Amino acid sequence: GGGNSPVAVTVLGATGSIGTSTLDVIARHPERYRVHALSAHRSREELLVRCREHQPRLAVLEREEDARWLRARLAEAGLDTEVRTGRDALVEIAEAPEVDVVMAAIVGAAGLLPTLAAVEAGKRVLLANKEALVMSGGLFMEAVTRSGATLLPIDSEHNAIFQCLPPEHRGGLEQHGVTQLLLTASGGPFRGWSAERLAAVTPEQACAHPNWSMGRKISVDSATLMNKGLELIEACWLFDARPDQIQVVVHPQSVIHSMAAYNDGSVIAQLGNPDMRTPIAHGLAWPERIASGVEALNLFEVARFDFEPPDDTAFPCLRLAREAIASGGTAPAVLNAANEVAVEAFLDGRLSFNGIGELVECVLTSCRVDPAAELEGILAADERARRDARQWLGES
Ligand code: NAD
Ligand code: MG
Repeated sequence: GGGNSPVAVTVLGATGSIGTSTLDVIARHPERYRVHALSAHRSREELLVRCREHQPRLAVLEREEDARWLRARLAEAGLDTEVRTGRDALVEIAEAPEVDVVMAAIVGAAGLLPTLAAVEAGKRVLLANKEALVMSGGLFMEAVTRSGATLLPIDSEHNAIFQCLPPEHRGGLEQHGVTQLLLTASGGPFRGWSAERLAAVTPEQACAHPNWSMGRKISVDSATLMNKGLELIEACWLFDARPDQIQVVVHPQSVIHSMAAYNDGSVIAQLGNPDMRTPIAHGLAWPERIASGVEALNLFEVARFDFEPPDDTAFPCLRLAREAIASGGTAPAVLNAANEVAVEAFLDGRLSFNGIGELVECVLTSCRVDPAAELEGILAADERARRDARQWLGES
């Protein structure tokens, strides 16, 4: 801030739920932030709307036909945004020297390479794309240390924990007096349901989350509790935590976004309305604070906080994530890849809700874990797991 030129931001996944919230916060502070580049997969109409509003230098889409369409519309509107396509273009807008901040908000493994590129270029990286960190864990965190990148968690739970920990928290929780991280979970739309009842769940039911409005993939992950599993792995890497230092606490109101417990008995929590603009604004401005557009929390409206343990029987995905991080190496990448294939199949009506956990378990238990894989090994494990998952589905 303070009279300097605006901070240049690239938003990867600009048309998604997180991308949209990010641009909402940025638009509230035009003197502070300027959009350098925006990316989307195939949603060219939405990307056009955002280009009109934010006038980025660059826009990236996957396919050349969509890029041609966007170029024509931008020319009609008299805008000089340059449109590029493909993976290399995503990496370019993530690592460009004129970029200060990269919001990593692509969903799934597709975000790994551009997110890593932003890290390696030493950017301030706002990490929403948890799958990237789950897949590449140690390698990702080493790159952060090596490059001097500033990694700020956007996942609401991890952003909350970040705010509850001392400013310099790397190097193990114990040395800072932290005994446990309490990772809160809403429990999803099917909290309290039995496995029998879950068998008939439809994609529409799974995507109607009670507290958060999100993309379809993370909505399904929230419903299966795989989201909490991915978040457990994410927390291990972000905060140098062992899995046994993380307790998952189901808190249906989703007002406490997570907590840190200390050896003197203190438990520090971060609270707020469930709106991703709060962690996004925190990540953008840290260590300063800026307005996010989120309404003040009214505790009388919330009225009460409930807590319960997760149901590991009806929702096996959290246990599978614990197994994957315990196995280490490429196991989390395998878990993630099998889950991505399973969620897609569920959303297409080719797999039952309970089939998601069954498929992930089968692929995870039958995979060979590479304990010290570099990036290529991780990408190979991801590919193999997808192949195994499709075979399980009877699709190849
Ligand atoms: P979304 O589906 O709403 O948006 C995804 C974005 O990524 C879109 O812009 C889409 O065009 C782009 N995209 C999708 N597939 C792509 C591909 N193959 N290549 C390039 N771009 C692609 O998802 P979302 O809910 O915004 O979630 C984004 C990420 O943030 C996910 O990793 C999710 O787990 C994480 N996250 C989301 C929330 C939330 O509230 N939505 C909360 C915490 C974390
Ligand atoms: Mg979360």
